[in-house]
Amino acid sequence: RAKGAGRDRSAVFDEAMRDEATRILDLEADLRRAINADAFEPHYQPIVRIADGVVLGHEALLRWSHERRGLLAPGEFIGVGEDSGLIEQVDWLLYARVIQDMATAMTEGYVSVNVSPRHFRSADFADRLLGLLSDANVDPARLRIEITEVALFDDAPRALRTLSNLRSHGVLALLDDFGTGFSALSYLHHFPIECLKIDRSFIAGLSTSQPESLAVIRAILALAGTLSIDTIAEGIETEAQRDALVQLGCVNGQGYLFGRPQGRAAT
Ligand code: C2E
Ligand code: MG
Ligand code: MG
Ligand code: MG
Repeated sequence: RAKGAGRDRSAVFDEAMRDEATRILDLEADLRRAINADAFEPHYQPIVRIADGVVLGHEALLRWSHERRGLLAPGEFIGVGEDSGLIEQVDWLLYARVIQDMATAMTEGYVSVNVSPRHFRSADFADRLLGLLSDANVDPARLRIEITEVALFDDAPRALRTLSNLRSHGVLALLDDFGTGFSALSYLHHFPIECLKIDRSFIAGLSTSQPESLAVIRAILALAGTLSIDTIAEGIETEAQRDALVQLGCVNGQGYLFGRPQGRAAT
């Protein structure tokens, strides 16, 4: 009896594995079709001075307009995109859209785009991005890139070359989700990083008054101050969070309190 039950369980398990494999293959096939159809669009979320809401720039966030499932956020497909390597093609389609928007519409301040670690490591990343900007006649100083710590430390010399190349043309770099990765603080000043984006989880921790979140935010602000690096608090949803951040001396932020990501048509 016990043996039989065991066999049933493993049959159920096999089926679940098969379903998951099928789901990933379907998604990958959909993603390839979407790349051919250029079915991606940027949504823009304001980055503001939190004390008075003045808009400093926007973050471009990837959305996939899926033929059957509607608008998908990266959480639904980025894993498959990264594992299959398709994310690079998706990113280039998105950057082209963003730069087109920058060339044709007035945008306040800068626009930042997200870069997958693996994509950032490709040899021609900086030159290709600069090429897109110059083809569209867009001032590189209006564009910023958001990378994560993994992108830096995996191949530090190459990361340094890429960042220096971009910066010499005016493209500044922001470090995304800061505080969640290695946070190898001693390395930070070796890289030309303009700004640390304090991860949303710590801002969320402020409203549940988690002392660790407060301590991490304080430490990041102190570090950034010492290194003369700017900061942006991510995921500010409530006035209480904003007020606490202002108290802590955090100047810039982003979050639903100030504006959700919106498509061009809606803005
Ligand atoms: P991220 O770069 O850290 O982006 C911030 C995420 O937090 C976005 O999710 C944004 O919609 C969400 N967010 C902003 N304000 C709030 C808030 O107040 N509360 C909450 N709960 N969430 C907020 P999204 O758009 O789903 O993007 C998720 C992640 O996907 C991004 O995290 C980024 O790592 C990645 N991603 C986005 N666009 C691209 C892209 O064009 N290329 C690549 N490679 N990755 C992208
Ligand atoms: Mg980002
Ligand atoms: Mg982030
Ligand atoms: Mg994040």
